[in-house]
Amino acid sequence: MILTNGLQVDLRVVPKVSYGAALYYFTGSKAHNIAVRRIAQKRGWKVNEYGLYEGDKRIAGETEVSLFKKLGLAYIEPELRENRGEIEAAREGKLPQLVKLNDLRGDLHCHTRASDGQGSLRAMAEAAREQGLEYLAITEHSKNLAVAHGLDSDRLLKQVDAIAKLNDELDDITLLSGIEADILKDGGLDLSDDVLERLDLVIGAVHSNFNLSRKQQTERILRAMDSPHFTLLAHPSGRLIDSREPYAVDMERIIRQAAQRGCYLELNANPDRLDLLDSHCRLAKEEGVLVSINSDAHSPAEFDNLRFGIGQARRGWLEKDDVLNTRSLTALRKLLKQTRR
Ligand SMILES: [Zn+2]
Ligand SMILES: [Zn+2]
Repeated sequence: MILTNGLQVDLRVVPKVSYGAALYYFTGSKAHNIAVRRIAQKRGWKVNEYGLYEGDKRIAGETEVSLFKKLGLAYIEPELRENRGEIEAAREGKLPQLVKLNDLRGDLHCHTRASDGQGSLRAMAEAAREQGLEYLAITEHSKNLAVAHGLDSDRLLKQVDAIAKLNDELDDITLLSGIEADILKDGGLDLSDDVLERLDLVIGAVHSNFNLSRKQQTERILRAMDSPHFTLLAHPSGRLIDSREPYAVDMERIIRQAAQRGCYLELNANPDRLDLLDSHCRLAKEEGVLVSINSDAHSPAEFDNLRFGIGQARRGWLEKDDVLNTRSLTALRKLLKQTRR
């Protein structure tokens, strides 16, 4: 059947002894299922939605775990089932321990009413605390993004003071002062170094000139990352799912440069973005670049979106230690400081 939101739903009812096999069979992916079927075939077995069979005899299938075990594989998390090396890793006991939602200790990207958000500083802090977070960076848009009521240096420095004051009143959560600075067409950041210097972190983001050539776009971003106060690249590909393709950019070069320069990449958890892409999460991990899973919340309710970011990070094989905001506040402050030049 098709739901009103366009999502197609199929309902299958199977006997309890086939539950694991059915769940496994219908949740794919196809490439993964084919590879696993081949393993079964090699042993003279067959696998379908009712179970794993030796001749007519069902030898596993009540749970997914029973199926994997019989095939000589460790349990493979659903997010990894793409036939991108997970089967070999499962055989060798080398699967990653994927990051979980409650590993997150903070969020490094959100907006308040001061730019285009809908909550006050206090409301955002309290909502983040309710999610169990210990720190939250306030990162409004900068002045170049006039449609989002971006902050100039005066308004930003006033907010820095307001955050310091609020931190004295708040228990169990610490606010950090940041900015989501527009990366200008030439790769400059939208605020001067002496202002950026006052902040705990600087997120750079592309919000304009999406149509530059691949070379120009790449060099623009690399130049921004070179800025002495650059911390983290927001929504690195710029895609909006179903409405805007990623801009042309050499993401591999950007990831390698982030490793060399010593800065971080965002995985934006907004379900319309989910940006970094999973393959780039994996490359970041391989290159030793920490990824920050951020809500980019524009209202108190949007901290809920962090779980979508976790899902995407898991697709990208990320473990707790690969994620910047699983660190304690003390460890995070140290990592933020290291990005400074
Ligand atoms: Zn943005
Ligand atoms: Zn933002």
